[in-house]
Amino acid sequence: MDIIHVLPDSQQFLPEFNKSWTDWRWQQKNALRDEGSLRTACGGWSDEIARRIQQNLQGQKMQITPYYLSRILATKQSDDITTSPLWRQVVPFWREEELNGYDGESENWELNEEMKTPICQHKYDNRVILRMVNACNSYCQFCFEALRTLKVNSDKSNAGRTSFQQSLEYIKNTPSVEEVILSGGDPLMLTDNKLDESLAAIREIREDLLIRVHSRALTFNPYRITDALIETLKKHRVNAFGVHVCHPLELSNEFQNAVRRIQSVVPIVFSNMPFLRGINDNEETLHKLFIDLYRMGVKPYYLYHFMPFSPGSSEYKASINDAIAIMSKLKRRVSNIALPEYVLPHMKGKFTVPLFTNAEEMPYFETINGRRYYRFTNWKNEQCEWLDN
Ligand code: SF4
Repeated sequence: MDIIHVLPDSQQFLPEFNKSWTDWRWQQKNALRDEGSLRTACGGWSDEIARRIQQNLQGQKMQITPYYLSRILATKQSDDITTSPLWRQVVPFWREEELNGYDGESENWELNEEMKTPICQHKYDNRVILRMVNACNSYCQFCFEALRTLKVNSDKSNAGRTSFQQSLEYIKNTPSVEEVILSGGDPLMLTDNKLDESLAAIREIREDLLIRVHSRALTFNPYRITDALIETLKKHRVNAFGVHVCHPLELSNEFQNAVRRIQSVVPIVFSNMPFLRGINDNEETLHKLFIDLYRMGVKPYYLYHFMPFSPGSSEYKASINDAIAIMSKLKRRVSNIALPEYVLPHMKGKFTVPLFTNAEEMPYFETINGRRYYRFTNWKNEQCEWLDN
């Protein structure tokens, strides 16, 4: 771990400092995974912060690539690194008592009846998600799939040969499936060969099957977008690529180069973004994020409200009211091309939250025993509720 502390800009310094810097495997191998190395690389922090991180890492993973750390250091605007919106995403820094709402077991996105194989989730009528791998380049501490990705010794299955074959059979035998989404974790954690093999098998099922890939590699390890990967996406005619991104400070030159390369072979590139308190829950940050993505030719697609059952939920969970107010203002400021749908990722399916310009117009809240619930009817006409802040 000989590099990182002092790199203010990874692109500017990489050739002089490290010939391996642009090798995505080197980035993964040299990722920081413990509090001590991270504290040293960041120039130190208080014993209290150190204690909290160490405590939260019992049973939970942290992993930060040298590339992402270099972004944190290059973009920090205060000596207090804990205020960095990038640092806050990948470091479990909250107090234990702030775990409000997280029971360590509930995961409200993967319902048992939707799991057709250990890795194949069929939630919506015409598409399935294949959870190809539980690993990621770095770990977002707000992960919506926390039980797969963040939990040490997750009991959720990776895509072994058997579960992958079972999933192919399910897709073959289910004509209503028009689209297959490769997700995870991050499917780009697989090797190029493995991805090539997997995409070939999916493409072979039906010529007109839509194939979509979701990844956060561009923010955590943009060097993952190799020539071989681009060839693979092209060869199997991947139809759409979802870039996961959270903050404009993540839109580096490396990120943009990786986007351009994907755009050269995949017709539709879009972005999914979480809405996180203290990270991007303000109008100016989201405005810059959406407009900069639009400039790159990436369609801002969904802005996801935080899921209630994730570690550190009270740290990251903003209020729905705040999100509606911000998105309503942005709707007047930017074109719809730059404006994502703001959605609640409820276990019974995503719900697009209507935008209103003043609070009196919002009929969806109900207060019960002092707690405020947002109520809505989902895509299956089922009544759902969401405990708001
Ligand atoms: S990259 Fe995606 S799946 Fe992986 S930890 Fe982040 S949010 Fe979760």
